[in-house]
Amino acid sequence: MLITVTTTHQPATDLGYLLVKHPDRVHTFGMPTGTAYVVYPEADTERCTAALLLDIDPLALSGARTRRGGSGRGGNPTPDGFTLGQYVNDRSYAASSLLSSALSTVFRSALRGNSKDRPELAATAIPLELRVPALRCRGGAELTEKLFAPLGWTVTAVPIPLDPSRPDWGDSRYVDLTLTGTLRLADALNHLYVLLPVLDDAKHYWVAPDEIDKLLRAGAGWLAEHPERGLITRRYLAHRRALAGAALARLAEQRLADEPADPDSIVEAPDCGADEEAGLPATVDRQPLAALRRAAVLAALDSSGATRVLDLGCGGGALLTDLVKNRRYTEIVGTDVSSRSLTVAERRLRLDRLPPRQRERIKLWQSALTYQDDRLRGYDAAVLMEVVEHLDPPRLPALEAAVFGHARPETVVVTTPNVEYNVRYPGLAAGAFRHTDHRFEWTRAEFADWTGAVGAHYGYAVTISGVGADDPEVGSPTQLAVFTRTAPNPTPQPTDLGDAR
Ligand code: SAH
Repeated sequence: MLITVTTTHQPATDLGYLLVKHPDRVHTFGMPTGTAYVVYPEADTERCTAALLLDIDPLALSGARTRRGGSGRGGNPTPDGFTLGQYVNDRSYAASSLLSSALSTVFRSALRGNSKDRPELAATAIPLELRVPALRCRGGAELTEKLFAPLGWTVTAVPIPLDPSRPDWGDSRYVDLTLTGTLRLADALNHLYVLLPVLDDAKHYWVAPDEIDKLLRAGAGWLAEHPERGLITRRYLAHRRALAGAALARLAEQRLADEPADPDSIVEAPDCGADEEAGLPATVDRQPLAALRRAAVLAALDSSGATRVLDLGCGGGALLTDLVKNRRYTEIVGTDVSSRSLTVAERRLRLDRLPPRQRERIKLWQSALTYQDDRLRGYDAAVLMEVVEHLDPPRLPALEAAVFGHARPETVVVTTPNVEYNVRYPGLAAGAFRHTDHRFEWTRAEFADWTGAVGAHYGYAVTISGVGADDPEVGSPTQLAVFTRTAPNPTPQPTDLGDAR
């Protein structure tokens, strides 16, 4: 197994400082599954290449498996039992999770971006070429492109024929991968560390819960925004659904980057939507817009006749406190991807002080709206108050599938800002959104398009209204849609499932 790292940054031999491996020597590391070597096939000031070679000992590999299996830590049985496959397989030759483990052992400080001798260079993007001549790849050469291109790499993946003398046999499962780009060395190594086992899609050690931490650490700064983060996370965590779900929720949480780090400070923080009142002209009855919005949502729920309701993306629980006061709601569920928001909601609702009968009406669940969650099925109504605009537009189809296709309540109430109204906020710069975490804000026409398309696709009738002062030119500050289910179950197929399972 071989991987090479080349730079033309000058002096190129500085690569030795970044990797903490002197170019003039052969470096040897004992690994649980064999021996790793670092050598430099070329090292001059113009161009320098470091090669990591992993020499797998099939006996050590099978021994490592047996030992792990016997330790009782994992639950997975040895994949191929006591067969010859343990000793005679492609593990010795193809890049895989074993190479990834070797990377993390051999280049530990470089992976963390540390360099005692060249700290500035470690923090600088430099021209790099990575090559993995025999990479086992489930999903073919196209998948390498999908995984590496969004990270800034130019990808060349050449499929390796099964037998060069028999072209009619077609290609093997291996590609010769070359990545070129200008990146920080630490980022480059972390990309490989995560994506090699993802491409291989067959992890060779037990997937323990601390794998989530490893993944999030190695994926810091790039995984949360990666368009294939769902596939990467599921494959990296060896398709263990519970682990992948937890990891994805934490990634989604990372994306809500503007949340305060100190849990106490968010108790004081305004709910999303409350800050937009900063420069707001007097609203109807001088009530703040957030209160008007909650009143409009409650009125819509009331006229739907719902008694069991979901507040999806409940945040700090402002609406939940209103719902709890009304006895008609026999079951109230607040969900959010952010555990910190749920903690705030719990405190605000004073759940610990409620009598048991009251306490039983309320549930708070951590759940990501872009993933189908069976717990959310069978409710009368769901509210998405000021939530959709927090999702990247390409993730909306996944939310639609999860809410309208899978949870499928009879009524869905959605509110979102009307971007046309923003010109009426004196404090808001032209073109700025009302909240730093908003990924978009819609005009009235855009909201009508979206609600119409979703309603038509999933079988819901839609009525749209405005909340707050109705300005003759730009409309109301908040748009509200009530979706009422017209089509019976079963669920229509979504157009684009995205990552939704
Ligand atoms: N509905 C509340 C909070 C709105 S702020 C209110 O109106 O006061 C938006 C909320 O959506 C945040 O709490 C955020 O954590 C949550 N959110 C954003 N993306 C989400 C996702 N993919 N899944 C679940 N919740 C999400």
